[in-house]
This record gives sequence, C-alpha cells and structure tokens, in this order.
Amino acid sequence: MRPPPVRKSLGQHFLTDPRILARIADAVALDPHETVVEIGPGRGSLTDALLARAGRVVAVEIDPKLVELLREKYAHESRLTIIEADVLDVNLGHAAGGEYALAGNVPYYITTPILFQALKQPRALRSVLLVQREVAARMAAEPGAEDYGALSVNVQAVARVEMLFRIPAGAFTPPPRVDSAVVRVTPRAEPVVRPGDEESFRIFVQAAFALRRKQMRRVVRTIGARSVEEAERALAASGVDPDARPETLSATQFHGLGRALGLWG
Ligand code: SAM
Repeated sequence: MRPPPVRKSLGQHFLTDPRILARIADAVALDPHETVVEIGPGRGSLTDALLARAGRVVAVEIDPKLVELLREKYAHESRLTIIEADVLDVNLGHAAGGEYALAGNVPYYITTPILFQALKQPRALRSVLLVQREVAARMAAEPGAEDYGALSVNVQAVARVEMLFRIPAGAFTPPPRVDSAVVRVTPRAEPVVRPGDEESFRIFVQAAFALRRKQMRRVVRTIGARSVEEAERALAASGVDPDARPETLSATQFHGLGRALGLWG
C-alpha cells in the first residue's frame, strides 16, 4: 500500500533517518522483554527501531489510513498491537497491560495534553518524547530561568526531565516550522505531589504563573482570596519569601505553600 497523503492538521512530520531513529529508540533503554507504548507511529519508522529493542510494542495512531498501512506492513508481527484511537482517550498503562516504557515523535498540536497524559497513573517507567525544542526547554528549565513556567513546575513535581539532543527541522518530511528535541522523563520515586492532589496542584500553579511578575504576597492574596495576615502566615509557614515571584519558586516550594493554604494535606 502506498503511504496516504500527509495530514498536517494531525501534526504529521515523518522521520526517516535511521541514525536519528536508532538514537531515539536507544534513549528509551529498553530491555528485550519490556513493553513500550508508542504515541503516533505514523508510517512505522520509529516502530521498527522499537521492535528491534523491545519485547512488545503497543502503538496508538489516530489516522485510519495510517492504521491501515501499519496493519498491512506488520501483518506478520505478533509483537505489535496497533490501537486506532486518539491517544488522549487512551489509558496508556491499561493499553500496555502492565509496566511499560513510553516513546513517541509526538504531534505538536497537542504536545502539552500528551505530556500530561503521559504523567497520568499508572505512569510509564520512563518516557522518551520528541517535542518542539522550545517545549523541551520549558520542561527542563530550572527556577528563575527564562523558560521556567507552569509546565516546568508541573512536570518536575512528579518527574525528572533530561534534555537529550536536538533534531533539526530538515530531518522531517515534511519539515515542521520549528526545531525539535528529545527529552527523557523519569518519574520520581517520591513525587512532590501525591496522585490525588495533582489536579489541584496544577490549577494552583497555573493561577500563580498567570501573575508571574507579581510578588508572592500579592499572588497569594489574589489566587487564595486571603487577607494580608493569612497570606503572610502561609508564606512564613512554608518558608516562601513574600517578595519572591512565581517564576523563582520550585515545585517543592509551590507544594509547601499550597499545603500552608490548606489546599492539600
Ligand atoms: N512516529 C512517526 C515518525 O516518527 O515518523 C510519525 C510522527 S508524526 C510527528 C505524529 C503522528 O501522530 C502521526 O502519525 C499522526 O497521525 C499521529 N497523531 C496525531 N494526533 C494523534 C492523536 N491525537 N492520537 C494518536 N496519534 C496521533
């Protein structure tokens, strides 16, 4: 079957360079018995590299024409399961049927929702994702850095992020408008935020970063609707400098502050 026409609206930018594909698949550090879930297999180029390293691949693809192509290409490959679905509707852990690693050259139009999907329980043992370089920089940024924001805090609250290597736009067909980078995300053994509190934490952090240039004494009063005294008390109890700005606070500091405000236990 000939490859179907490229659907740019689905973020279709295909990789073909075997060295780049091998580098991404190597970064997942799979053992031969492991299951890896792939987001957006497309024409199967990264899938081939994953199949060469893993015990089983579960690939989630939304485009029915590509699913048809993949089903034909891998008709005799019993180690591959193809799921035709929007990855945002799939519980990745259930699809894997147990422990799993995650990999994908992800569609850029939904990078952030995919990142949060990837961090949902049951989490992958590690994830290697190809994302826009600018998103990779935000994920890995440290407090106070220019790229540091709500995404950095939310990801770093539950995982360690490593920026591995860049991939130029010209390596894709068709080339996207921006450069890309590969990141590895490894869940923390002891996450800053407990599973039941993740949604509240995300809302709190997002609200604080909407006021990223304001000082924390003002931020706390605005988003917690607190009196001056209550705000100062919560800041003191959590050791957060009232003069600091949200863009300098770590995930641990946000968590401590939320606890002092009674947002979680
Ligand atoms: N893995 C292939 C490669 O590296 O050449 C294709 C990567 S391409 C950037 C993204 C892939 O994700 C496309 O195949 C696209 O159809 C698929 N896709 C887009 N939106 C999706 C969604 N919501 N759920 C699952 N797959 C999606």
